[in-house]
Amino acid sequence: MNNYIISSMKIDLISLFSSDGFEIPFNFKISSKEQALDITADVVGILKNFSGMAHLEADVGVVINTQCARCLEPVKSEIEFTIIEKVEDDENLDGSLLDVGNIVLQNIHLNLPIRFVCDPNCKGLCPKCGANLNNGLCKCDNEIVDERFSVLKKLLD
Ligand SMILES: [Zn+2]
Ligand SMILES: [Zn+2]
Repeated sequence: MNNYIISSMKIDLISLFSSDGFEIPFNFKISSKEQALDITADVVGILKNFSGMAHLEADVGVVINTQCARCLEPVKSEIEFTIIEKVEDDENLDGSLLDVGNIVLQNIHLNLPIRFVCDPNCKGLCPKCGANLNNGLCKCDNEIVDERFSVLKKLLD
């Protein structure tokens, strides 16, 4: 199979069930784009007929291009994981056609971190003026500091 980028990957299980122990190796690259999440995955795996049951094994390498949850700057992240599962009558099985691409995408979403940050110490954006605080303090921050001082001053007075 060619390793080009696709949005769907379906494998017909008819030949898989022709004999016990039959195997269908596969290798594809899949991509998905939703809102700020741009995902590309390299998938190498095999479908096995294990006593009449289809077993799926796949190594998935994912590159995620998204934005930092705090400062909105672009973030590139990579994760790798292995899928090992029994294929049963589910939403990904349409007759004898198994939507391996969708199984992979579902597993990618299970393995994604809840949020991405450009750096654990990212300072984020100023809630007042929207300035990226990683590039230095904005004037609003000085005002906040001034306010604190003025409260202290009142208390002292
Ligand atoms: Zn950031
Ligand atoms: Zn500001």
